[in-house]
Amino acid sequence: MKCRVCRQAAVIDVRRHNAYFCEEHFVRHCHRQVERAISDHKMLNSDERVLVAVSGGKDSLALWEILLTLGYKADGVFIGLGITEYSDDSSRFVERFVKDVAAPAGGSLVRLDLQTDFGFDVEGAADATGRAPCSACGLSKRHLFNTAALNGNYHAVATGHNLDDEAAVLFGNTLRWQTDFLRRQRPVLPDGNGFPRKVKPMIRLSERETAAYCIVQGIDYQVDECPMSAGNSHIRYKEMLNMLEESSPGSKAEFYGGFLRNLAPILDEATPDGETQRTIRPCDQCGSPTDNEVCSFCRLLQRVRPETSPTGGTRSD
Ligand code: SF4
Ligand SMILES: [Zn+2]
Ligand SMILES: [Zn+2]
Repeated sequence: MKCRVCRQAAVIDVRRHNAYFCEEHFVRHCHRQVERAISDHKMLNSDERVLVAVSGGKDSLALWEILLTLGYKADGVFIGLGITEYSDDSSRFVERFVKDVAAPAGGSLVRLDLQTDFGFDVEGAADATGRAPCSACGLSKRHLFNTAALNGNYHAVATGHNLDDEAAVLFGNTLRWQTDFLRRQRPVLPDGNGFPRKVKPMIRLSERETAAYCIVQGIDYQVDECPMSAGNSHIRYKEMLNMLEESSPGSKAEFYGGFLRNLAPILDEATPDGETQRTIRPCDQCGSPTDNEVCSFCRLLQRVRPETSPTGGTRSD
């Protein structure tokens, strides 16, 4: 097969675009998709500083590399979660990426560790709360990404959520008609009330494309899934959507893109300024914005290490 642009031998097909690309034009295709997501959804201005939440996986490392290549002032933040060898391996992939790719392009890394900095790990939090590990993990990541962005005066936090991720989350939210979650499922959540802006510049690229991008660009990444993700419903939704995509290329993009075009504006009209109706105040213990006296991260700390006092002096949720 031949590249759609230059007619040289192709290395990948992107069926939803009905296109084949050589390496060079596949890389350009990926850059263009990220640029389009950023401009269509007004995610970032070219002079803004962005903090990329990196896990060591393909999506977040590809995102950081693309933002640096496109000229954004992009730094990374990595959180050691203490999930056995998985977290150690993830950390090594991030370190190597910083040394080989990010640092030479001007990017630096903010490194946090749940055990060292806060005295617990994800499994310990799951035991203490009696909830799924992903619950404490997700809550901690949201809080610490926000905190790192605000402490470092970044304009936005960028995450590597791709088209497959967003379509699977949308499927789950729609299956249960979780309208509050649907309303917040946006490629951009604006800043305000003490929270930084959140952006998802990879929403126009599939998981397969981000993996191929890393291979073509020589970005080494953590291939293994987090061991805590076994049985996760999103993995099942992704498998189902992959079956649909196989028989009808473009289904995922239609599903998610159609939601953004058709349903999201209606949800906005039905609940105007829904976010601002929450009464946001500083957490009594850490100063983070919250709609409770104590933010959910400080409440988690009280449960996982009740003998010590919670965080002092940091901001965010
Ligand atoms: S699968 Fe769950 S525990 Fe593992 S990194 Fe993701 S949210 Fe955290
Ligand atoms: Zn080409
Ligand atoms: Zn707090």
